[in-house]
Amino acid sequence: MKILVTGGAGFIASHIVDAYIALGHDVAVVDNLSTGREENINPKASFYKLDICSEQVKELILEQKPDIINHHAAQIDVRRSVQDPAYDAKINIVASLNILEAARQVSTKHFIFSSTGGAIYGEQDYFPADEAHPLRPLSPYGVAKLSVEKYLDYYRAIYGLPYTIFRYANVYGPRQNPKGEAGVVAIFCELLSKTSTPTINGDGLQTRDYVYVADLVKANCLAIEHLDKSANQIFNIGTGIETDVNSIFQHLKHLFASEVDETHGSAKAGEQRRSVLSSALVSQVLGWRVETSLEEGLEKTVAFYKK
Ligand code: NAD
Repeated sequence: MKILVTGGAGFIASHIVDAYIALGHDVAVVDNLSTGREENINPKASFYKLDICSEQVKELILEQKPDIINHHAAQIDVRRSVQDPAYDAKINIVASLNILEAARQVSTKHFIFSSTGGAIYGEQDYFPADEAHPLRPLSPYGVAKLSVEKYLDYYRAIYGLPYTIFRYANVYGPRQNPKGEAGVVAIFCELLSKTSTPTINGDGLQTRDYVYVADLVKANCLAIEHLDKSANQIFNIGTGIETDVNSIFQHLKHLFASEVDETHGSAKAGEQRRSVLSSALVSQVLGWRVETSLEEGLEKTVAFYKK
């Protein structure tokens, strides 16, 4: 199939591109390299250095008529979304509409969207959260992801554009950019590899659900393999296991054989205390399972950062 992947130079989508190419698909990558890197792009993919806000990306879709669009390009910095909600909305909402408008004009067969399970539910009422949990995003980033979910359902209803929405937990693994606000695993790996001291916000007992990138890739492959089953579904992708930041640091410290001790800074205002997702639905519908334990995933990630 002809698949267009936005954000394919970034952490998560570059792994998805590799898997789609290994499956024999014809893959085009659109990315402006704002946080992605050219060396992440599979050489067998055609690469278009374009901004998803631009007219050119629309023209590309109209010309190429991809069977599937897998949309991962985004402004991913939650703190930046708080400082500049309009900028976040421009990339995360308006540019998504740019792509959706082109998708419906060429009758794309299927649209995959990377949403967030970590930022869409807000403080959870119950643990783990399933897809039916109330949606109370606490950041403009989360609000933007929720808006695109709603737009996708509008495009399905009015234009018959089928979608799959993945609400990812906290993703970690090789190629994650340690700059900015991204993932604590990447940030700690970067600091520990330089024997610098990481600062943990608050007491470090805030929990997250850490899912290894290869497991997410599997979900993105199952979605295109079973288009009938994945159509118009919203799936959480997480492990169902809560891990606190202090434990992540201790695991990584051990793997780096580091003597460095963490320091604790002030707690971040508005930071969620606990987040953990149930992936029972995607297991039932697509047969997706968590295959990588935290220990195994962290080991692979550390091996990457050591290189
Ligand atoms: P990433 O920053 O590595 O990837 C995003 C990619 O999009 C980058 O290559 C970047 O250059 C590109 N991009 C950004 N703005 C663009 C623009 N205007 N035009 C074209 N390309 C642009 O981040 P990631 O962690 O791989 O995230 C991928 C997707 O998954 C995002 O949609 C993110 O919101 C979502 N997500 C990530 C996590 C996580 O834990 N990393 C969790 C939930 C959801």
